[in-house]
Amino acid sequence: MCGIVGYVGNKQALTVVVDGLRRLEYRGYDSAGVAVVQDHKLEVRKKAGKLVNLETLLGTDPLPNSTTGIGHTRWATHGGPTDTNAHPHVDNDEKLAVIHNGIIENYTELRTQLEAKGHKFSSETDTESVAHLLSDL
Ligand code: GLU
Repeated sequence: MCGIVGYVGNKQALTVVVDGLRRLEYRGYDSAGVAVVQDHKLEVRKKAGKLVNLETLLGTDPLPNSTTGIGHTRWATHGGPTDTNAHPHVDNDEKLAVIHNGIIENYTELRTQLEAKGHKFSSETDTESVAHLLSDL
């Protein structure tokens, strides 16, 4: 079972989101990731394994200060527990980021349709199809 945290407010979003993910660790997960928005630009960091691996990455490749962010701990169902398959997933223009709990039952059909329209997928997950689908609206 994954964990999902989102924050919009006056505090540093990354602190709130990572604290929230830590509180959800008991649910079990295989990878973790976060996204923040700063100056209308999305920034994503994600890493396979425990939350500490993501925190180490954030130490070497920090995110900008932001008061808007999302975070996810993943329990893989579609695609292995890799850095690339970790959430969030973004569309090709990097205008939106998606985190998701569960299964997109018709993702194979969605992916086939979206790839035919030119969308480039970078992961093996069902979730990524939602990012491309929303950007196609
Ligand atoms: N089906 C999605 C994946 O494999 C979400 C899994 C989850 O609920 O964490 O990435």
